[in-house]
Amino acid sequence: MKIVHVVGARPNFVKISPIIRELNKHSDVVQKLVHTGQHYDETLSRVFFEELDIPTPDIELGVGSASQAVQTARIMMAFEPVCVEWKPDIVVVVGDVNSTVACALVAAKLGVRVAHVEAGLRSFDWSMPEEINRVVTDRLSDLLFTTERSANENLLREGIPPERIHFVGNVMIDTLFRYLPRARQRQLHCRLGLTPRRYAVVTLHRPSNVDSKAALELLLHAIQGIASQVPVVFPIHPRTRRRLEEFGIQSLPRSIRCVEPLGYLDFLSLLDQAGVVLTDSGGVQEETTALGVPCLTLRPNTERPVTVAEGTNRLVALAPEAIKEAVRSALALWENGSGPCQRLPELWDGRAAERIARVLVNCGG
Ligand code: UDP
Repeated sequence: MKIVHVVGARPNFVKISPIIRELNKHSDVVQKLVHTGQHYDETLSRVFFEELDIPTPDIELGVGSASQAVQTARIMMAFEPVCVEWKPDIVVVVGDVNSTVACALVAAKLGVRVAHVEAGLRSFDWSMPEEINRVVTDRLSDLLFTTERSANENLLREGIPPERIHFVGNVMIDTLFRYLPRARQRQLHCRLGLTPRRYAVVTLHRPSNVDSKAALELLLHAIQGIASQVPVVFPIHPRTRRRLEEFGIQSLPRSIRCVEPLGYLDFLSLLDQAGVVLTDSGGVQEETTALGVPCLTLRPNTERPVTVAEGTNRLVALAPEAIKEAVRSALALWENGSGPCQRLPELWDGRAAERIARVLVNCGG
């Protein structure tokens, strides 16, 4: 049985690592890894391969940055001959990036079965490019692996046959549990001179937050307000860095500790000891829930409602006062030493990839 995995962007690497490891245990499975090159630099790509023990890709499509249409088209053009030559039984795509939808479309049109890991998540916000990628990818997929029950409901509502849907848990949390002991040895907070539970971590990269000058300035203003309460570490995503330059925002206030995007182990080490995390990332909402660290999501919606219902996540209005107040109450949760109340969502037990491999091997050949 031949399986081709597709990765392209930072969150994909974190998700694919346990799946490849698990399928390696099956001697009758031949795996090939395609890296589309959507993210290609050291900080967003190479470091993840090293730290997460991901094999070197069998092929790099090298598409690079471009507008969404050009990038999607380039990925499709480059992936089609690979698919024709390798003749996989299944193409595995993960998450919701352009590489996910582009390769799913190519495979489906060639009659190759598509497996989507992290299927069914919905923000119901069609202005989000990722939402379009999610819906289209799910419609093209033969096997849909979900991380939470709300995703099953979304898929059933959209008419996906129930036998295609497999609730397996969360591969991102498989990776987190596996690498947490190693991440803890990094002690990044010590190296940065920070006290556990007395600092905030910020990540921002969603187009709705960083592609408009007004939205980005408002968030920076809010972060500056927080930095007067508590130290703030801000690993700046290249997309956000580019926008700061384009908008002529030269330097951020010195009270905000701006750093390059961190490697997985350093970032996990920082998250693990944080007092509060402010983010618009999908994966970080899940990781904070698994770690029991309060998360304030800087968006009007989330496609991961289980992180709010059972985890530590809270949606916060994009208004400086509301954000400041939410930070204050999140930090107060640590004052009696206990931190937030939270439950680990169902099947977030570090064994999602094992379940995925079982399904692929049983019904994939
Ligand atoms: N991450 C990282 N370094 C950083 C910021 C994030 O390693 O400086 C990791 C994070 O732990 C998570 C993944 O990147 O595993 C999330 O990626 P991102 O926020 O880019 O994508 P999203 O989840 O929003 O699709």
